Amino acid sequence: MALIVKKFGGSSVGSVEKIMAVAKRIIDEKKAEDKVVMVVSAMGDTTDDLIALAKGINKDPYQYSREMDMLLTTGEQVSISLLTMAFKTLGHKAVSLTGPLAGMKTNSVHTKGKLVDIKPKRVHEELDKGNIVVVAGFQGCDELGDPVTLGRGGSDTSAVALAGALKADSCEIFTDVDGVYSADPRIVKDARKMKEITYYEMLEMARLGAGVMQPRSVEMGKYFNIPIHVRSTFTTKTGTMIREEYTMEEKDFVIRGVAHDEKVAKIAVLGVPNNPGIAYSIFSALAEANVDVDMIVQSIRNIEKNVTDMVFTVASSDLSQTKKIVDRVADQLQAIAVLVEEDVAKVSIVGAGMLGNPGIAARMFGALSKAAVNIEVISTSEISISCLIKGAQLKEAVNSIHAEFFPQK
Ligand code: ASP
Ligand code: MG
Repeated sequence: MALIVKKFGGSSVGSVEKIMAVAKRIIDEKKAEDKVVMVVSAMGDTTDDLIALAKGINKDPYQYSREMDMLLTTGEQVSISLLTMAFKTLGHKAVSLTGPLAGMKTNSVHTKGKLVDIKPKRVHEELDKGNIVVVAGFQGCDELGDPVTLGRGGSDTSAVALAGALKADSCEIFTDVDGVYSADPRIVKDARKMKEITYYEMLEMARLGAGVMQPRSVEMGKYFNIPIHVRSTFTTKTGTMIREEYTMEEKDFVIRGVAHDEKVAKIAVLGVPNNPGIAYSIFSALAEANVDVDMIVQSIRNIEKNVTDMVFTVASSDLSQTKKIVDRVADQLQAIAVLVEEDVAKVSIVGAGMLGNPGIAARMFGALSKAAVNIEVISTSEISISCLIKGAQLKEAVNSIHAEFFPQK
């Protein structure tokens, strides 16, 4: 007997026909004694459509974050009920559970919630009754019982965390691509599908914009040490295994992939005093508002006047909130100006093999220079190097870097 968690993303359940097809596939592949838990996202673009509705009421609806969660959680509820009806129609026992009913407990940070505890007692009970259990991804509830969503793409995290809490034998993420690639195959024609990738590298790829998995879901996989199989909804092909260590030839790659992120914005606070505590006053205000600041550079503007420029990036979705906060702090600091640039993108290389392998950064910069791409900001981690560039040059940049590290044989 195996206990399996299978997650289906929005594009996999985008219509009633697709929902029916998912139900049929699950039943075909299920052995009689298997226990199956499904985690599903909202149908197709439902979440975007719901956000658009809210924007029809107020152009900055995220200020009413609890109500956003009340709204957004409905998307996944549509899918779980329809998928459950599909199983029943096909003659199988099934039951739908919202995130809270499945025991997904979160903190109270609306629209960016984190799972703090999972008590899947009800899930076990329903499995024991012979049901396929269909759980709403992306949602849980806080101590008050208020609905909280887990950030865009949060169904991945729901699935992996639930698999961990249930001590499932495996966790499969079904999506519209058939695995994790060395770069976005829509941008790089000869991107290569990986058989395996470690949690560590996948986390970095996801954090830097590879859209396949929500970063936190990979963290959950590592925490529970549950292997994650990313694979296609539309074929039965093996996809990519995300796990602790390599078992195959994949060890040989110094760089595992090129990730990119267009949803970033650059903010420059010009002419702030070059004194202790200045960075603290800007970034603590942003941290208090749960804004994640990414790349940061401080440069000398004028040594005589002892003022400096502070440049950093945030996710585009945090830009309006960031701008408000930074304008306020910049005012207090008597900064010269706050500039925002939205047409920027971040391109990154990731690979544990770069540790102790000098020259990797130089090769990346060389590839960018060959493509005549100017680098605006650079940041590094142990296993990644990122460059901020003009958004319009993203495609050339990704292709040039990919060609450098994954030459065609
Ligand atoms: N429906 C949510 C979103 O679109 C969650 C998910 O798809 O994972 O972000
Ligand atoms: Mg989605």
